[in-house]
Amino acid sequence: MADREDAAGDAAADADAAADTDAGPAAANAEVRELPESTVERIAAGEVVTRPSRVVAELVENSLDAGATRVDVAVDGDGTDRIRVADDGRGMSRADAALAVEPHTTSKLRDAADLESVGTLGFRGEALASVADAADLTVTTNDGGDVGTEVTVADGEVSVSDAGRARGTTVTVTDLFADRPARRESLASPAREFARISSLVAEYAVLRPGVAFSLTHDGTETVSTPGTGVTDALLAVYDRETASQSTAFEHRADVDFAGRTGALRVDGALAYPSTTRSTREHVHVAVNGRPVRNEALRAAVAQGYGSLLPSGREPVAALRLDVPAWAVDPNVHPAKTRVALRAADAVADAVESGVRDALTTADLRRSGEVAMDLDSSLAPVDGVDSDFADAAVIGQFRDLYLLCEADGDLLVVDQHAAHERVNYERLRESLADEAVPSASLDPAETVSLDPGAAAAAEAYRDELGRLGFDVEPFGGTTYRVTAVPAPLGRVADADALRDVLAALRDDAGTVGDDAGGRGGDAGVRDALLADLACHPSLKAGDALDDEAATKLLRRLGECEQPYACPHGRPTVLSVDEATLAAGFERDSARR
Ligand code: ADP
Ligand code: MG
Repeated sequence: MADREDAAGDAAADADAAADTDAGPAAANAEVRELPESTVERIAAGEVVTRPSRVVAELVENSLDAGATRVDVAVDGDGTDRIRVADDGRGMSRADAALAVEPHTTSKLRDAADLESVGTLGFRGEALASVADAADLTVTTNDGGDVGTEVTVADGEVSVSDAGRARGTTVTVTDLFADRPARRESLASPAREFARISSLVAEYAVLRPGVAFSLTHDGTETVSTPGTGVTDALLAVYDRETASQSTAFEHRADVDFAGRTGALRVDGALAYPSTTRSTREHVHVAVNGRPVRNEALRAAVAQGYGSLLPSGREPVAALRLDVPAWAVDPNVHPAKTRVALRAADAVADAVESGVRDALTTADLRRSGEVAMDLDSSLAPVDGVDSDFADAAVIGQFRDLYLLCEADGDLLVVDQHAAHERVNYERLRESLADEAVPSASLDPAETVSLDPGAAAAAEAYRDELGRLGFDVEPFGGTTYRVTAVPAPLGRVADADALRDVLAALRDDAGTVGDDAGGRGGDAGVRDALLADLACHPSLKAGDALDDEAATKLLRRLGECEQPYACPHGRPTVLSVDEATLAAGFERDSARR
């Protein structure tokens, strides 16, 4: 089972990491014992060691359970040659080390009742024995004594001897699957097996950022995190841009776990929407310290980003979710990468709103972007008088029109058009005449264009660059889009390229019209900005209270052109009293 799911391609699936609270109570005074048979029967059975990355996962998990602050992983080839995991954890006594390599021996669980509250990543007492079964195994360990212990299992023979080693444990696994040709046969290419290991270590590193991790492949270090927090971990695992343009957050809520209320806490880091990926694999989630593959939680994170994400793009995020131990069952899958959550929907809702709140309050401007949330967008402009300073909001009609009174007239404001005008001017202002900032798409997206649009893509390469697109031919009429405009908390779609090309071609047909003297593509640029301003703006159906409505009205009045949206439609209709009087067949306005 585990194998087939691993083969489905989610490298993160291999992750099994650490509990937040370092080690559970049972591990605190490690004493390895054999589990009673009745308990063994209740533990999700399955093959533990199915591929090299599973070995790495089990060994890293043991290091974290031992309270390590450093975990160094070294892999040769695809991992079947050699895997070594060294930690600075609490180590094992000689007696414990000798027993630990036997089946169903653990220091983390006493009996089945403990399963309800297991705080460690391991609990089945199977990993070392399974590894020893499938490979040669050496455990070198020291729990703080003068002399350490080396336990070797080769061809089923266990031998124990003295070893020099500082406190901690090193486990070396060689010749994995040497006598299991079918297993070896089922492995992917060495590069892909190593890629699994690499994503696995990355996942632990971002979800357990207080621990320093390193990964060395064939003698070359490929990743190293300092163990100093999530931003530094993102820097090591991703890149500078992702790390610096991200926000750390924390959110707490009380959740009704199907009849029993419990505290939920989620913390972690969210990359700003200027960094996206094409798959959801970069949404890392841990539940009670255990990295899990949970599509519902990943979807909740993406939902929290909402319209900040271009369509088809997925965020980069690392979230640690903590819920009461009784609300989760880790014992549902041999690889322990799945957990059963009570009230999964309520948990997903809490995660979604935590992410949304964090992004709303995050200062997205730090990333050179304009925050497009309602509050920031309606903040008054210093030193500008509003045309609607004295207007009073009467109410909202059909969740779209704001009814207002100003100078004896009735004003009807289209809230979407008004907000779009505000956002468009903010955007234009923030960009002045500079090139539109862009965000790179990694991986690039391919867009197939009709022949006319393809010709335009060739002809307007420079203009596209100024508009924030990076486009290169990819054979025939297919183009690779490696960067898109990203002037807001919002990144454009690769698809927006088609609209922009269409606008550039239209524009070419009307050379000499009043493009405002800002160069030939000014009109196209404005059209692009107008489209980008449209998306985060209020829509029909968004309920506004009087206070927000008043702010919108004031802010609209501060615009250069308050009376039309960027697409040229009116924002405000004014009905004077005489019109009403005429409608009611009154001969004078008031009597
Ligand atoms: P489990 O983790 O489920 O207990 P394992 O077979 O992985 O089962 O490990 C057996 C026992 O060996 C653990 O319970 C723990 O006491 C001990 N152990 C394994 N690895 C380490 C390590 N790196 N540091 C300290 N103790 C370890
Ligand atoms: Mg274990």
